[in-house]
Amino acid sequence: MKTVLITGASRGIGRELALAFGRAGYAVGVNYQKEKAAAEAVVQEIWEAGNKEAEVFPCDVRDSLRVRQMIDAVVVRWKRLDVLVNNAGITRDRTILKMTNGEWNDVIDVNLSGAFWCLREAARVMSRQKSGAVINIASIMAARGGFGNANYAAAKAGLIGLTKGAARELGRFHITVNAVLPGFHATDMAAALSEEQRERVTAEHALGHTTQIEDLTRLVMEVAQNTSVSGQIFNIDSRVIA
Ligand code: NAP
Repeated sequence: MKTVLITGASRGIGRELALAFGRAGYAVGVNYQKEKAAAEAVVQEIWEAGNKEAEVFPCDVRDSLRVRQMIDAVVVRWKRLDVLVNNAGITRDRTILKMTNGEWNDVIDVNLSGAFWCLREAARVMSRQKSGAVINIASIMAARGGFGNANYAAAKAGLIGLTKGAARELGRFHITVNAVLPGFHATDMAAALSEEQRERVTAEHALGHTTQIEDLTRLVMEVAQNTSVSGQIFNIDSRVIA
């Protein structure tokens, strides 16, 4: 049985990924930081769909020691780690002139450093296995920036650099490392957008509509299983990046 660990799987995109991997028969590690009940509900849903190999793994990905303990716990539980999805992410939007050190650091710590701690620990396991896949959930903001979220754009751009560097280093262990840029999904993270802003985002799509969550989960699972693709960036919507 293949195993996957998804960070930030208590809600939003991570939750949907956990359910999709669960349906596909993976053993699923559901990481969360705060939302214990929500994470346990994800595990329960996987169990109820007939897959009993799902478990919660609480850990704040900002804490590298806790990350090491989490990856160790996954390996104790399932003996291996086939796929890591670095999905945990936060926003602390503010224009640059008003942005505090804390708002900058929080976003870099979770979205970039947290992903690196997880990748590094997963790579220790995967390099021993001589197989594995890491998928970093980035954002279109990495490619084109945004207004009022320079911290987020910088963190996600860093994640793309990390993806490319790690792909080069870890390829010799047959570990693939790719980044996926989701389209717009109406999760808690996106809740701050006004109706007008949502309409503006939708209008940017060449196809005139945003991405279905199934389009994203299908692609992530495909990338996770493809052993010939690494160091690549996949943009899962129809916004054309100049
Ligand atoms: P969301 O609904 O706000 O969920 C965020 C998840 O991250 C939660 O499960 C949360 O866990 C977890 N998390 C936050 N800080 C954490 C920490 N320090 N340690 C461990 N887990 C932590 O977000 P989302 O919209 O699903 O976004 C998921 C990913 O997709 C993010 O990386 C985001 O940047 C990216 N993305 C989203 C969109 C979009 O339209 N939604 C578009 C492009 C990219 P707890 O609730 O348990 O604390």
